[in-house]
Amino acid sequence: MPTPLPTAAWTDAQLLDLFAGVVARSLRIDAARVTPDATFTALGAESLDLVEITLDVELAFGVLWPERHVLEIAREELGPATVSDEGRITALGMALLRDRLPVAACADLPAETTIAGATAAFLRVDVWVHVIRVLLAAAPRCCPTCGAALVLGSPARVACRPCGREFDLLPGDEVNRAWIRQWREGRAGTASASPE
Ligand SMILES: [Zn+2]
Repeated sequence: MPTPLPTAAWTDAQLLDLFAGVVARSLRIDAARVTPDATFTALGAESLDLVEITLDVELAFGVLWPERHVLEIAREELGPATVSDEGRITALGMALLRDRLPVAACADLPAETTIAGATAAFLRVDVWVHVIRVLLAAAPRCCPTCGAALVLGSPARVACRPCGREFDLLPGDEVNRAWIRQWREGRAGTASASPE
């Protein structure tokens, strides 16, 4: 029996536990070192390790990792108000990031940060666990026909064993895009709600 996939109902501690195991196996380190505030640099991960960890995370959690920075998607959806031509994150971009990644690494970003700077600051365990959580919230976990728990299927798909059917996982970039559109509508709603 394949183990059921993690769901968005998992606690932070459960997600961290599974993630720490993935990272520890990949880097051949003690899982106890993979604490929320640990950076991948401090854990000894190089860029090829991060590629491997990303692939292992996709398999362990049944999600598709975003290929592009959330602010690159935001720029397509919201225009240059989020990121300047020089790649600097604007106040609107910062507001979006802080709503998307409510973790210390994001709150601590200095003004005038670039996307590259933000990417470097985000190479932390708590940021990755949070990204996993938002990907899980958009991932199909139950069969719409019979309600059985889905398991990993073909690449980028999950499967219902009783029904013999497979379902696509949403690419991480599209999860982010859908969230950005909702975020924009939420802000528009707030702005147009005039106080009495
Ligand atoms: Zn089914």
